[in-house]
This record gives sequence, structure tokens and C-alpha cells, in this order.
Amino acid sequence: MKIDTIRLDHGSGGKMSHRLILDAVLPIFDDPVLRRLDDGAVLDMPGGRIAFSTDTYVVDPIFFPGGDIGDLAVNGTVNDLAMCGAVPQYLSVAVIIEEGFAGGDFERILTSMQRAARVAGVRIVTGDTKVVPKGAADKIFVNTAGIGIVPEGISVSGANARAGDRILISGTMADHGMTILTLREGMEFESPVKSDTAALNHMAAALFERFGRKIHVLRDPTRGGVGTALNEIAASSGVGVVIHEDRLPIRESVAGICEILGFDPLYVANEGKMIAVVAADVAGDVVDMMRSDPLGGDACIIGEVTAPGPAPVVMKTSIGGTRIVDMLTGAQLPRIC
Ligand code: MG
Repeated sequence: MKIDTIRLDHGSGGKMSHRLILDAVLPIFDDPVLRRLDDGAVLDMPGGRIAFSTDTYVVDPIFFPGGDIGDLAVNGTVNDLAMCGAVPQYLSVAVIIEEGFAGGDFERILTSMQRAARVAGVRIVTGDTKVVPKGAADKIFVNTAGIGIVPEGISVSGANARAGDRILISGTMADHGMTILTLREGMEFESPVKSDTAALNHMAAALFERFGRKIHVLRDPTRGGVGTALNEIAASSGVGVVIHEDRLPIRESVAGICEILGFDPLYVANEGKMIAVVAADVAGDVVDMMRSDPLGGDACIIGEVTAPGPAPVVMKTSIGGTRIVDMLTGAQLPRIC
């Protein structure tokens, strides 16, 4: 094993997480589907294709402005399926609860999950409950897995970006991560921020319905943020990516908090946004369609795909310079999702 000890950085969603997967997981779980490293696995089944994905939620605090660990867990897996081009259908829910956890809080989390499932149009059909002694877990951890059906004719993957494509984002960056951080640090700001946790499957389905194979890549920039997600796409597709700083959508309040605390919004987690890489001739129409969705009001084109360059992702800065955008390095914020 190339890794001696698992550190917090290995869970950051950035470069170290990537190394953990490449050096420790893939050599043992060697499978061509797993090697694609998309948000979920698309599997050929008799009668069609299904997508299958799982994610575990350890966010702290468990309740936060805009959501809680429950709807975050449902929306996260729904989004991973939607990013594979699938129509999410069924979820499993497994919880690890620390002894002493309040029954009322448990009920509140389940109710929030059920509400999120209804909004997304998925059913929670199987699950598991474990309780561990006090101190063996912190409050509650939630795992969701989900399956969805991939309609015929859809082909979307992190490996499908082509030079000339446009890169879109469906709305403002860094809302979720900065909400959790300010709450955890007990900081109060004049204009409070809230998590963007939301299910993107209806928006994704509408895009596929109208633009089909012109949608080349969808990715939800969760842990590791937009900067890391773009690096993953560039690596999988073997292309370069150029983004423009003055086009990046970010709320003034969130930008202010990032600046005060020294965070780069490009690396802060989002839980209700998608990056779309699309054919140039439909990019304007895709933005218009995203904007007509309540979750996509701030959608915009942030950059374009190029031939591979010396660095996978670069940003043209507001003052006319060029900056390399690497994958997130180091542990930015543990337990953000
Ligand atoms: Mg994802």
C-alpha cells in the first residue's frame, strides 16, 4: 500500500482524495466501470441501462440554513444519478446513529428525507439502521445509494468533453460550503448565507430532452468545488479548460465571507449546482433553459474546452492575467457533506 495512514486530507474531495482512489482503491477494486470515475456507474442490463451510485453524509452540524443531513443525503445521490444522464428511481437509506441521539431529531431528518424524495420523484425502498455506543460515531451518519434508468440515446460522461465545447454552471458557487463553515465557526454576518442543497434531476432531464447528445458532460461540483471538478473533466477527456474569472457567478455575501476567511470559492463545495459541458452551437440555449428553472436563475457560460495545454485548467483573471487552477490540495473543510 502506497498510503501509510489515512489523513483528513484524504477525505477532502481534492488531490489527496484522488490519490486515495487511484493508489489504494482502484488497484484492488479493479473494474472498468469503476475506472471511469464518473459520479455513478452506468451498467448494461437486460432491457436497457441503469445508473447506480452511493454517497455517505457526515456533515457537521446536521441542521443548517437551507437544509439538513437528511435532504442533503437524498439530493446528493439523486444528483449523482442525474449527472450520469439517469432518471433517478429508487434510493436506499442507511444510518449510523450515536447512542443518546434525540428521537425528535431522528424524526426530523427522516421527514426531511421523505420530502426531498418526493420533490425529486424518487422512492426510498430499502435501508438499514445501526446504533453505536456514545463516542463511536458523532450524532448521525447517513448513507444513500440509488438507482436510475438511463434513457436510450443519452451518452454523458466526464470523458466526453471536446475542444470547442462551452462550459456552463447552473448558478452561484460556494453557497453550501461557506454556510457550513460560518455556522461551525459560530460566525455571524450581516447577510446570512444558506446551503444550495437541491435535486437537479428535473433540470438535467429537461436538458437531455431538448439537447440530447449535445450535452457532453454533467458534473455536480460538490467536495473539491468547481476547480477540482473541472480538473477531473479535463483529465478524463484529455482536453484543456479555460475559465474566465469575471464570469464566475458568486453571491456578494459569499464572496465577502470567502475573502475574510481566505477561501477560494473555486474549491468550496456546492450541493445544488451542475457544471455542463455542451456543444458550442447550443450553449446559449442551454443557459436560457437553465435560467427558466427555479434552480438555475444565475446560470451562465464560464469558459470553454480547448486542446490540451501545459496545464489542464487555467483561468483568465479579471485583471488580464492567467492563473493555473489545480485540483484542491490539502484538507479544506472536513465534514462539509
Ligand atoms: Mg457528484
